[in-house]
Amino acid sequence: MAEFSIIDTYFNRKNGNSVDLGVGDDSALLTPPPQQQLVICTDTLIAGRHYPLDTSPHAIGWKSVAVNLSDIAAMGAKPHSILLALSLPQIDNDWLKGFSQGLYDCCDQFGVSLIGGDTTQSPHLTISVTALGWVDIGKAVPRSGAQVGDYICVSGQVGDAAFGLRHLGHPLQQRLDYPTPRCQLGQQLKGLAHSMIDVSDGLAQDLGHILAASQVGAEIELNQLPVDAALKKLQQETQWQYALAGGDDYELCFTISPQNYEALLQQQLDINISKIGQITKNLGLTFLKNGVDCPIQFHGYQHFA
Ligand code: ADP
Ligand code: MG
Repeated sequence: MAEFSIIDTYFNRKNGNSVDLGVGDDSALLTPPPQQQLVICTDTLIAGRHYPLDTSPHAIGWKSVAVNLSDIAAMGAKPHSILLALSLPQIDNDWLKGFSQGLYDCCDQFGVSLIGGDTTQSPHLTISVTALGWVDIGKAVPRSGAQVGDYICVSGQVGDAAFGLRHLGHPLQQRLDYPTPRCQLGQQLKGLAHSMIDVSDGLAQDLGHILAASQVGAEIELNQLPVDAALKKLQQETQWQYALAGGDDYELCFTISPQNYEALLQQQLDINISKIGQITKNLGLTFLKNGVDCPIQFHGYQHFA
């Protein structure tokens, strides 16, 4: 089966009418909605690095979309479409069937269209997805907007995916294989949050990006970190290690004024929010246990480290 046949068989479903021209021509065509800015990002998944080698093709398809929609959500934007650059060592129809189904399942769940891509042969399986979204002009939520006195919040639970990776077969492996991008929450935070990031490399490291970009510091209350019941059974230090340094959670971490926090709680949210600390003038990340200094060291995931 040649390249075009792969595209036609697995990646050429009909799109909704917000796509003027999708898969099949030299480029795709979209009409930007009035008064919207284009939000665009890309993320690559490499077998064995970003997912265990025996991960199901369906989960790989889901995750390759989800991690990108998470980046769109972290800007406060609405996801619209994706492009897929796929490098395959060989044509494996079972794999392609599962992968494309997982990819379209995630697209369908979040109202996103596959509008184009590239298909090549290479010795390594590499999956690159580019996601596009829209946000009201000037309203995207940057990393750089944190203000002294902001509350620091995180959605859902942190540490689940890292725990799932260490305990394959445990129900929390689902959180590793099928991360849920917080698309609705991200859009609700537009106009409310001062800064935002999605947690892909560990909460401490990713919050560190907000602090550096905003030139502020933070105090984190360790007892407020939202962790799963399975993690609560572990020693506290181990819990905190998962929660602060475990990657792949794809939750949203944001800073918000106390006033806007109250406004957020008035809204219907599809995921739990935890207030875990506060932005400070003093630079650096300080950990507290029940309000008392509790110095600990954590590092998130780094390529080339
Ligand atoms: P070109 O040679 O002009 O770059 P291609 O032959 O690479 O075009 O691709 C043909 C069409 O199929 C294009 O519309 C492209 O966007 C789409 N396409 C190629 N690979 C994929 C893929 N893996 N998923 C979705 N669309 C794809
Ligand atoms: Mg062309």
